[in-house]
Amino acid sequence: MGVLSRLRRELESPRSDRPLGSGWLSGCLSLLAALTGLLIVVIRWYPQTFTMPELQPIHQGGYMVLFLRFVLLSGYVLALLSLILSRYRALAWTGLIVSVIASLMATAQPEHAPGAQSLYFGLDYFIVNVLLVGFLFVPLERFFPARPEQTVFRADWQEDMFYYLLSSMLVQVLSFLSMAPANFVNLHFDISETQAYIAGMSFALQVVIIMMATDFVEYWVHRAFHTFPALWRFHAIHHSTKKMDWLAGARMHFVEIAVLRGLTAVPMFTLGFLPEAIQTYLLIVYFYSSFIHSNIGWRFGFIERFLVTPRFHHWHHGSDREAIDINYASHFPIYDWLFGTHYLPETAWPENYGVVGDNVPRGYWKQFLHPFRRDRKGVPAE
Ligand SMILES: [Zn+2]
Ligand SMILES: [Zn+2]
Repeated sequence: MGVLSRLRRELESPRSDRPLGSGWLSGCLSLLAALTGLLIVVIRWYPQTFTMPELQPIHQGGYMVLFLRFVLLSGYVLALLSLILSRYRALAWTGLIVSVIASLMATAQPEHAPGAQSLYFGLDYFIVNVLLVGFLFVPLERFFPARPEQTVFRADWQEDMFYYLLSSMLVQVLSFLSMAPANFVNLHFDISETQAYIAGMSFALQVVIIMMATDFVEYWVHRAFHTFPALWRFHAIHHSTKKMDWLAGARMHFVEIAVLRGLTAVPMFTLGFLPEAIQTYLLIVYFYSSFIHSNIGWRFGFIERFLVTPRFHHWHHGSDREAIDINYASHFPIYDWLFGTHYLPETAWPENYGVVGDNVPRGYWKQFLHPFRRDRKGVPAE
């Protein structure tokens, strides 16, 4: 336990203790690269258990090997850089050791005959998404912070990482659940003319239309989650974070994820879009939702009028009076303009984040149960 608690202390050490050039960032990235490499190696050892069948060709193909080498090499280089610069040696040493173990395992990897088996966790999905997103956002938040005083590993970061992990693991269950409404529409309505019309459009146009259509649905679902008290109890979990960053967006109640995905899947899977367009949209959304929650302070000028930016969505998470029940859109602020919920002051960021009254408990399981709990009088506890 000594090593783990030391690691954790280094990860969470206050910002003033780790200026640029102290080796902290390279140590963190080294550890991230090493863990990514290790997980990829483990997946390649047991492809039947850990990967989704659709993604297996990617793992067994040449690109994954190249990517794995790149990641492991990054782990080594960053660990060395950090050791040269560093006061944060536990990070660098752990990164180095994990890189070595992963490399040894990679060279000793057994050959697998491709076989069909049904047990898989979607772990590959988790790794590719979460760690790549981490790779991208940790340095960006470090170099261009909206709130410079906020640390990368702020309070409750493990809890939000757990949200990330779990919802990515459960992607199979969720995609099954969330296809139900779309399947229902496909089965009971004949919109083959619309489908043919959309299928004839260009790829780029299809992606834009998917974004517009899903964001329209998302706007109203999101607004409903704020409007009806029974639904708000679920959505309050998402709003309970008091520090905004790329990881914060992952905190979302399972029920809300299922409802949101199920209803946005309706326009996505019924209107006849190309599978490639849908996949592109899903990729964009994954990065985009981390982006709008992130602690990145870039200024976007007039773009802010057309596309949702971190500042726009941060206002949605604000707990100040003027920040209540505004900015529901996830991609296009125009929906908030149209429906009268748009709020974006010139350049300011909100003062505070979180739920007014702050009644949401901490920890995944307490938060999971929170919407179902009632107080002694039998009315929802506010
Ligand atoms: Zn909300
Ligand atoms: Zn949010």
